[in-house]
Amino acid sequence: MLKIDNLHASVEDKSILQGINLEVKAGEVHAIMGPNGSGKSTLASVIAGKEEYEVTKGSIEFKGENIDELAAEERAHKGVFLSFQYPVEIPGVSVTNFIKTAINETRKAQGLNDMPAKDMLKLIREKSEMLEIDRKFLSRSLNEGFSGGEKKRNEIFQMAMLDPQLAILDETDSGLDIDALRIVANGVNKLKSKDNAVVVITHYQRLLDYIVPDFVHVLYNGKIVKSGTKELAHELEEKGYDWIKEEVNA
Ligand code: ADP
Ligand code: MG
Ligand code: MG
Repeated sequence: MLKIDNLHASVEDKSILQGINLEVKAGEVHAIMGPNGSGKSTLASVIAGKEEYEVTKGSIEFKGENIDELAAEERAHKGVFLSFQYPVEIPGVSVTNFIKTAINETRKAQGLNDMPAKDMLKLIREKSEMLEIDRKFLSRSLNEGFSGGEKKRNEIFQMAMLDPQLAILDETDSGLDIDALRIVANGVNKLKSKDNAVVVITHYQRLLDYIVPDFVHVLYNGKIVKSGTKELAHELEEKGYDWIKEEVNA
């Protein structure tokens, strides 16, 4: 599904990613961990195609197609979802109306007509029940006055509605409380299927107690310096990152 080969990328002429190799197959969950500033968010942004980031070497393939040159929107339409891609506050636009528009835009890009209102309602009902989101929440203005947990809930709702083939969740340094952790984990676990893949970026080992990854990778100085299974996450929890830095610098 996703094949990253010797990826180098820079932002504002500063080289950040220094040769990333990563292959993610359908049905897999990968966790990317690593110390602050190692390039985790940059990697997520480059895969999603954010404009500020420039690929200087290597390639990103999604479903066998090179997507390096595609705009973020086009990648999204092909099934790549990045959390916090739509973090804006939009007073007067409800959670539901926002996602309806996003879905119909995706359909349009795929040459399809708008989803019939009846089907849309059914989908909204199904996904909101699955995620235990109540109706009141769905009619609130997008992100306006949302708490951390509510932002997560909205993000996971967007993910469930769009049903991406590749979901990249960047759990940034902002403290995820236990509620938010559960919301994210619950959503990911329910979305998981043999046809899609999830990449979770985190430096909280705790999240990985809820979302059990098939593979764990450690990013350091713009490179994946170690890969393993969920045991690696436990080892990192116990020992921190210093031993990895020492191994790399030895
Ligand atoms: P992580 O998510 O692992 O904490 P980031 O990808 O956010 O790391 O950052 C990696 C490095 O790239 C840092 O040194 C950071 O300052 C730099 N960086 C990331 N995004 C930008 C940007 N938009 N402009 C300038 N520097 C950036
Ligand atoms: Mg950071
Ligand atoms: Mg980050």
